[in-house]
Amino acid sequence: MATQKMLKFVNVSKEMPEKRPANLRAQDFHEIYREYAAEKAAEQASRCSQCGVPYCQSHCPLHNNIPDWLRLTAEGRLQEAYEISQATNTFPEICGRICPQDRLCEGNCVIEQSGHGTVTIGSVEKYITDTAWENGWVKPIKPAVERTESVAVIGAGPGGLAAADVLRRKGYQVTVYDRYDRAGGLLTYGIPGFKLEKPVVMQRIEQLESAGVSFVLNCNVGVDLSFDAIRGQHDAVLIATGVYKIREIEAPGVGAKGIVKALDYLTASNRKSFGDEVPEFDSGELNAEGKRVVVIGGGDTAMDCVRTAIRQGAQSVKCLYRRDKANMPGSQREVQNAEEEGVDFVWLSAPKGFTGGESVEGVMVQKMRLGAPDATGRQSPEVIEGADYVEPADLVVQALGFEPEAIPTLWGVPELAVTRWGTIKADFRTHATSLPGVYAVGDIVRGASLVVWAIRDGREAGEAIAAYLKQAEVVAAE
Ligand SMILES: Cc1cc2nc3c(=O)[nH]c(=O)nc-3n(C[C@H](O)[C@H](O)[C@H](O)COP(=O)(O)OP(=O)(O)OC[C@H]3O[C@@H](n4cnc5c(N)ncnc54)[C@H](O)[C@@H]3O)c2cc1C
Ligand code: SF4
Repeated sequence: MATQKMLKFVNVSKEMPEKRPANLRAQDFHEIYREYAAEKAAEQASRCSQCGVPYCQSHCPLHNNIPDWLRLTAEGRLQEAYEISQATNTFPEICGRICPQDRLCEGNCVIEQSGHGTVTIGSVEKYITDTAWENGWVKPIKPAVERTESVAVIGAGPGGLAAADVLRRKGYQVTVYDRYDRAGGLLTYGIPGFKLEKPVVMQRIEQLESAGVSFVLNCNVGVDLSFDAIRGQHDAVLIATGVYKIREIEAPGVGAKGIVKALDYLTASNRKSFGDEVPEFDSGELNAEGKRVVVIGGGDTAMDCVRTAIRQGAQSVKCLYRRDKANMPGSQREVQNAEEEGVDFVWLSAPKGFTGGESVEGVMVQKMRLGAPDATGRQSPEVIEGADYVEPADLVVQALGFEPEAIPTLWGVPELAVTRWGTIKADFRTHATSLPGVYAVGDIVRGASLVVWAIRDGREAGEAIAAYLKQAEVVAAE
């Protein structure tokens, strides 16, 4: 039975090479996997009770028509399922892989809530769209009319790309600027390949390129090209630059060699998977192989770091978090994955400093307990005096989260309004900023958030920009 065969090898899909039987050829595996995936998708889809109160749909930020595409999948009508799925989601195969479904659609499945285990909505969404790509059902983007107006998109992450897709389909000329050498934003360089395979992202970028979207890469707006110059060249501008300023640990010894930033660590690993030269990886600076690794933080970025370190062959991987498991900000599913893979969680622990000289040798840990709830109702961690100890470490990864860069200052546009957190102020429906013809979406507006929210914002902003350009056309004609 294909299912049994696959269940035996299920960890192969997580790139855990030690689990791969020596005689299993990639081609065999692919075939077994396809058969298994088809069977599994139909089985899961048929579990949907068509409950009539689709909380899954209302808890999906894109309001995907989940019950309908589950029903069609159960009936074997995959192409129709794909058509419905892609009508509301620009990148369904990406969301199916990396949405924290336990907090969104699947967490609100009626079957899950009645204690019978959720329908695995994300896996079915991934399966439908992967099948659509394989069978040529994903059509090239061909605008019915060409329009002369042009739109600049600053930032080639999911928010910017979703807007570019909407605008190009309507015939607008779209140029996407990004400071990296590849498009995709955190889809390309942040999220690890074992969660989101890079060819899956690249095929979407190629689809946009083939449709006539121009990409200007290695272009750091505000440094290589001014924001004013971009505004002068285009009829509308979308800012989708994400959040990249890291929250750094302030503790004695933090400057030592071996204490690195999460995004540097993950980017190096992702670049290697593209076959790039990465001297910091090759020198061992950003490679966990054979090391005692301590990751500091409790969010999804921290989970990606610990799971990457396991795959790189670390001697041990510990995750230090100042609250307990129940109060972690990251997805519980990700914590479970990490635990199953051998990550050791050290709850209620915070770094007080680092031991060693030029290179780090350990983390001075202070033990915490949860005290009274603060104004938000969340219990604040308090130090337990006299319980400090040293956790040995050769590599320490700081994964405490990200904040927005000071865009108005960096780009010399003080009139671009920001919130007190430094995120760009934008209308929550149209995504219009304080500057006429300038829109903003994704993390730079929401703060560190999710891919699916960036896609939703990008789709809405694409529509709003098109309406703005149409209106401008009407005014010009009068
Ligand atoms: C390690 C990590 C793992 C994550 N895992 C998940 C996950 O599993 N699931 C999930 O839903 N979300 C995840 N997220 C969050 C998710 O990646 C983001 O919410 C999402 O990518 C935001 O999209 P965006 O388009 O707003 O910005 P980004 O994806 O950050 O893209 C912004 C782009 O703007 C470019 N840019 C910035 N400044 C400039 C400039 N001055 N000039 C030119 N270009 C510029 C950047 O180079 C980048 O390419 C993760 C985040 C991180 C950091
Ligand atoms: S986009 Fe995300 S939340 Fe919506 S159905 Fe897909 S996996 Fe679930």
